[in-house]
Amino acid sequence: MCGIVGYTGPREAYPIVIKGLRRLEYRGYDSTGVALQNNGLKVYKKKGKVAELEENIVGKDLHAHAGIGHTRWATHGEPNDRNAHPHQSASGKLAMIHNGIIENYAQLKNELLKKGYTFKSDTDTEVLLNFIEEIMVNNECSLEEAVRVALKRVVGAYVILLLNEDDPETIIAARKGSPLVIGVGKGEHFLGSDASPMLEYTKEVVYVNDYELAIIRPDELILKNLGNEKLTPYVQKLDLELAAIEKGGYDHFMLKEIFEQPQTIQDCLRGRLDADAGTITMAGIDQYAEQIMNAKRIVMVACGTSWHAGLVAEYIFEELCRINVEVEYASEFRYRNPVISEGDVIIAISQSGETADTLVAIETAKAKGAIILGVVNVVGSSIARISHGGAYTHAGPEIGVASTKAFTAQLAVLTMIALKIGHAKGTLSNERYMGLLKELNAIPEKVAVALTHSEHIRKLASKYKDARDFLYLGRGYNFPVALEGALKLKEISYIHAEGYPAAEMKHGPIALVDETLPVVFVATRDSYHEKVVSNMQEIKARKGMVVSVITEGDETSTGLSNDVMIVPECDEILAPMLSVVPLQLLAYYIGVVKDLDVDKPRNLAKSVTVE
Ligand code: GLU
Repeated sequence: MCGIVGYTGPREAYPIVIKGLRRLEYRGYDSTGVALQNNGLKVYKKKGKVAELEENIVGKDLHAHAGIGHTRWATHGEPNDRNAHPHQSASGKLAMIHNGIIENYAQLKNELLKKGYTFKSDTDTEVLLNFIEEIMVNNECSLEEAVRVALKRVVGAYVILLLNEDDPETIIAARKGSPLVIGVGKGEHFLGSDASPMLEYTKEVVYVNDYELAIIRPDELILKNLGNEKLTPYVQKLDLELAAIEKGGYDHFMLKEIFEQPQTIQDCLRGRLDADAGTITMAGIDQYAEQIMNAKRIVMVACGTSWHAGLVAEYIFEELCRINVEVEYASEFRYRNPVISEGDVIIAISQSGETADTLVAIETAKAKGAIILGVVNVVGSSIARISHGGAYTHAGPEIGVASTKAFTAQLAVLTMIALKIGHAKGTLSNERYMGLLKELNAIPEKVAVALTHSEHIRKLASKYKDARDFLYLGRGYNFPVALEGALKLKEISYIHAEGYPAAEMKHGPIALVDETLPVVFVATRDSYHEKVVSNMQEIKARKGMVVSVITEGDETSTGLSNDVMIVPECDEILAPMLSVVPLQLLAYYIGVVKDLDVDKPRNLAKSVTVE
């Protein structure tokens, strides 16, 4: 949520900042703004996406060698020009951008109001900025010192970047709870919420940790803790190419990412799964294999699509490992004083690795003695760092706001963990284990086959685009896929959709069925199939429109369906990686035919770093 960019060095800052903001737009797009050191601070900001700001400042003198920029996902104050970042302090000498929430802003604001401050925006950000300036003026201290003192009073999450008119080459940055990467160039530095703004300039990066403060000049990077002790920046090599964050000929990132899935699942399996040798190697899991095998229960904590991946994993773990699994919404888990016992294993699932609720949930569980394993996409992210072990999903940058390839990669990782543990524990026979390894190895190819039907699904999208509601139904491994299909449709097409266990629809949702309601069955051939077919009959009998995801050659379901979307045959445990693909495409094409911004659906943002 919210993208931040900064630059200081010999190049022109504005083009770097604006290009960086375009790449970070997936994180929020309520407003866009930049502050430039151009003979004094110049701030330009505008409600809306980056392009709107660009149009608005054509012809302005944007020359500067230091600048910061922000794309907002509003938390405090509606999305408008006034609340857009950067904010300027009362004196006008400081400019600040912020990602996160200052929870005690009301208290700080009251203190400042009493001192005669007035505010131009409704944001928590402007309060913190003036609080910093107040300390700077009162204590006659440097900006760096004032930030340090101010942050000791702050409750909440933040990354902040500040410019000071009187010190035009310097950017002050600090972080707690939101991500910040500093790119180290030759005589220049770059800042970003992720590394994408700096990719073409440097591969040397420093991930700033919580409670750290950075003083950044063209040829100097000073890192300190809030106690004013200097720290040695740990410079890492970035393993990310420019092509990974570009559309590469596709109309949208979402479509590119759907089509990348054969490759991303393959990347996820590579070097880990050896189907011939019968081995799965995952260093971050191997270390904890003993504890996982002996765990009385595993708790999966996640939000959104990752939560659906957790639900699929619940079925797989219970079947293959005979371990009790609970799947929790991180936001609920963290606030209800959960019962955690020593030896419990928590698996935190998150694409960004920065999901605020998941992060705090695992911090709580860690403090209570649980073993934390992260299943995370973004390397070096906060969840990855605070977990004891785990495995990266290696899906590459996911830029479309609605998650697609990260989901299938999460399923691949979670399946590998379950296979490994089930085999080691002996709850999974060697024969079935070897068979499943072979099947898993073949999944990328089968996803590619499922994708060959995209043109057919595009036509279905035109046919069903005007429906007001959709119902998605599935059983067993495909029940969470039904939830995920409904979520994708809501996110991308703004059509109301609900996912339900197919049998459960009789206990309520069946009342919605009439000739205008498309009911999407996730009905690949599995041990529940006959039951699902009966559920289709029940919908048909009530004149509902049945649209089914089926296994190739399934005549019965074809006969009962108005339309079908076909996927190749596979073991039922692995089916969600295939059956979700047509549902991703359906949501995508309905969004496109309705002329919606599928990569940046309204009100959403990708990396949910606020709770
Ligand atoms: N809380 C700040 C605001 O509402 C920052 C939100 C963000 O992270 O974009 O403006």
